Amino acid sequence: MKRPYNFSAGPSMLPEPVLERIRAELTDYRGLGCSVMELNHRSDAFDAILHALEARIRRLLKVPESHAVLFCPGGGRMQFSMVPMNLLGAGVSATYVVTGTWSKGAANEAMRFARVHVAYHGNGTKLPEEEMLDLPEDASYVYYCDNETVHGIEFPEPPRVPSRVPLVSDMSSNFMSRPVDVSRFGLIWAGTQKNFGIAGLSVVIVRKDLLGLASPEVPTMLNYDVYARTGNLPNTPPVFQIYVAGLMAEWIEAEGGLDVMNARSIERSSMVYEALDACPAMYLTKVDPKTRSRMNVTFRLRDESLTDVFVREAEEAGLINLAGHRTVGGIRASLYNAMPIEGAAELASFIRTFALRHAV
Ligand code: PMP
Repeated sequence: MKRPYNFSAGPSMLPEPVLERIRAELTDYRGLGCSVMELNHRSDAFDAILHALEARIRRLLKVPESHAVLFCPGGGRMQFSMVPMNLLGAGVSATYVVTGTWSKGAANEAMRFARVHVAYHGNGTKLPEEEMLDLPEDASYVYYCDNETVHGIEFPEPPRVPSRVPLVSDMSSNFMSRPVDVSRFGLIWAGTQKNFGIAGLSVVIVRKDLLGLASPEVPTMLNYDVYARTGNLPNTPPVFQIYVAGLMAEWIEAEGGLDVMNARSIERSSMVYEALDACPAMYLTKVDPKTRSRMNVTFRLRDESLTDVFVREAEEAGLINLAGHRTVGGIRASLYNAMPIEGAAELASFIRTFALRHAV
């Protein structure tokens, strides 16, 4: 049976070869007589999974020795708290660049216990020009979201910040989709449920000299240094999430690495944006074309009463989960690493034919 193309923003599509590997290894992981879910996390077999995952992340992203790779449970929002709890000690206040839902959520969480300076407050359609950013030199860190999943807006390049201030990036929805110069960052974090596996795990890449800044009141399990010092085994980790991220890393390497992921993401998203731009009487795109996301294509039907019709007819055509985020409505097509080029081509073609069929 042909599976539909799933445009969900996360949890989202996994590559079929990864799903097949999970199925093949599910009841008996490599002759051990049990599944990965039943493996002791201190066994040699799990140790090999954990180390292979870290090694692959280091190879794919060329992570320098100056940075540690950590695996934290709790999903993305947990990082909204962990970042300030761990990094505030590096300065006097935290600077946030707010470009959409997720950077705003992170800034709000930090305000619970930090002095927060908002350097830019956008409405989800535009990114700040360099000179618009007001970045104090004595900040503990500058935080931004590399790709805003709800609005579909992506930084083409990370913002430039004063050299002594660590740059912190939420890359949850574009992690492992293009090469990144990790040395520019104090910390990169990403929930894995979009481009790199399933929900419940975040990968954190942090400069080692920023570890150990948390105050003594920070709970043990929210302290990055504890993960680093225990070799990512401060307790029983989410073993299945780590295993699936490992399979994703292996698949990305086998496909040719991050340059290939990037080229595919540009090809997929360009096809869909071109279709939308070709039918301006039907569709409205709000994001500045220079900062359109390669991952989440967002648009609206000019006649809002056609939004549900679009979603329903797309579903009938085997293109599922296209409704926009519940807070903004409209349509959102998420095109992560696992989305085949053919899926984007079918969506682009559907966008054009829908416009013809429903033209007034
Ligand atoms: N940051 C970004 C960019 C996201 O897209 C999301 C989830 N869609 C989150 C943070 C929050 O992640 P979680 O639901 O795992 O807490």
